[in-house]
Amino acid sequence: MRKRLVAGNWKMHGTLQTAQQLLMAIAHANTEAILAVFPPYVYLPLCQSTLSGTPVHFGAQDASEFTEGAYTGDVSATMLKDLGCHYVIIGHSERRQYHQDTNEIVRRKCEQALSAHVVPIICVGETLQERETHRTLPVIQEQVAIVQQLKDNCASFGEIVIAYEPVWAIGTGKSATPEDAQTVHAFIRNALSTVDAQLGQSTQILYGGSVKPDNAAALFAMPDIDGALVGGASLNADHFLVIGRSCNN
Ligand code: PEP
Repeated sequence: MRKRLVAGNWKMHGTLQTAQQLLMAIAHANTEAILAVFPPYVYLPLCQSTLSGTPVHFGAQDASEFTEGAYTGDVSATMLKDLGCHYVIIGHSERRQYHQDTNEIVRRKCEQALSAHVVPIICVGETLQERETHRTLPVIQEQVAIVQQLKDNCASFGEIVIAYEPVWAIGTGKSATPEDAQTVHAFIRNALSTVDAQLGQSTQILYGGSVKPDNAAALFAMPDIDGALVGGASLNADHFLVIGRSCNN
């Protein structure tokens, strides 16, 4: 049985004060699903102090493709581990779009995360143009293809989490229908199974793209949707908790 996971990506929002308030409001949430938050790097120490001893996990929104060295502005996966990060988001479409994270860079970042014992949440998803030209599944296939290399190179490849996030649904208020999302999730699970049968069974596949309190339960009712990566709605503690509680194991 796959444990459900609801992850909140705060992106570049908030202040020290609002981050603290949000963390306090969710710290002792009683949900069957695992909850995790992904604040900007600078608020990770706050997560470490506020969330320690609580059931809520935290992680970073990205990690360097390098282990260490002269890479100004980068943060390594080992540093994230030092701060208590359980997860790291890799290959979010905003990193792919604004920072040119290719599938190859995403693979290297995932390898850094896995070797530092930080769980990568690997984001995949098609753009509107790719969707409209019926290229959703080939694009996803190509993005998920890195998993074979992760298996070849990392003993802990079985820890990965995948997030299917159609780019056209992120921050737009337009979510995929549960049925459309399920089709892609089943496709991803099948692709994982061809790499490794156990991986196909055990990997959590999250849906992301305008998940809100009013559409979460219908998405989570789908057999291959194991939780959500939530952007905008994770900045509101009440909304995030409603989504978390919609996702029972
Ligand atoms: C995201 O940024 O990963 C995301 C899914 O955002 P939103 O929920 O705001 O669409």
